[in-house]
Amino acid sequence: AKGLMTGKRGLIMGVANSHSIAWGIAQALAAEGAQLAFTYQGEALGKRVAPLAESVGSKLILPCDVEDISSVDALFATLEKEWGSLDFVVHAIGFSDKNELKGRYIDATTRENFSRTMVISAFSFTEIAQRAHKLMPLGGSLLTLTYGGSTRVMPNYNVMGVAKAALESSVRYLAADLGEQGVRVNAISAGPIRTLAGAGIAEARFMFNFQRAHAPLRRTVTIEDVGGSALYLLSDLSAGVTGEIHYVDAGYNIISMPQPGSLKS
Ligand code: NAD
Repeated sequence: AKGLMTGKRGLIMGVANSHSIAWGIAQALAAEGAQLAFTYQGEALGKRVAPLAESVGSKLILPCDVEDISSVDALFATLEKEWGSLDFVVHAIGFSDKNELKGRYIDATTRENFSRTMVISAFSFTEIAQRAHKLMPLGGSLLTLTYGGSTRVMPNYNVMGVAKAALESSVRYLAADLGEQGVRVNAISAGPIRTLAGAGIAEARFMFNFQRAHAPLRRTVTIEDVGGSALYLLSDLSAGVTGEIHYVDAGYNIISMPQPGSLKS
């Protein structure tokens, strides 16, 4: 049967293991017939990514560390040579020194890690868009992953929240720039999920339990939930959507107070 993504080719950046959000997205896309290329950061993660990628029929499994711009250039050179064009990119990359993801933002944050967090977690999406759109002469869809700590203060999220705000703003600028070319640019703002990156945030368990108790759907989200929403944003079903920050968080972002009856008075 013909899938929603049959005939489309795309790049998945940010699989570290089978718990990664990028892997949930990749599985949803592959199930609908997409042809996928994967990147991995460093040889140790490469050993984990290769079998996952192969299990969804991928033949392109390429190294890329976004801190090293020459590796980003090499990645897109290979994609151009192998495929010639590209229909979509998933950017599910974030990093900050975990020593700065605890305590007060004002005390924890250094210039060095602020810059590094910004480059890896925010500016890399722009650098990827700069290269990817050139392989999208007939249009395409770019997707990144963000978190609600960008617009509201979440304890310990600190410099990552500042970087996610920059990332979300870049989604809007890139969407405006690339719209004429038919390239759409969106973000999914996911609720907390237990992943390698998520484990770097202090008291992640408390945040997880709090959201499960107070989100409208009374649960946290899964990588399959994110995969379903990503499928929509990367397919032609969302042809009229760009510049959007789409929350996949069991509704947590609409809540202003704990659920009634949950606090003892
Ligand atoms: P993850 O640890 O599985 O994925 C993070 C990925 O970033 C890894 O694959 C890692 O290799 C990659 N990465 C880090 N630095 C890199 C670099 N210099 N070059 C290339 N790749 C690099 O964790 P995840 O939770 O799936 O994270 C994916 C994205 O989702 C991140 O942007 C994260 O901020 C975002 N997000 C996560 C949550 C959550 O609760 N887990 C919630 C909202 C948004």
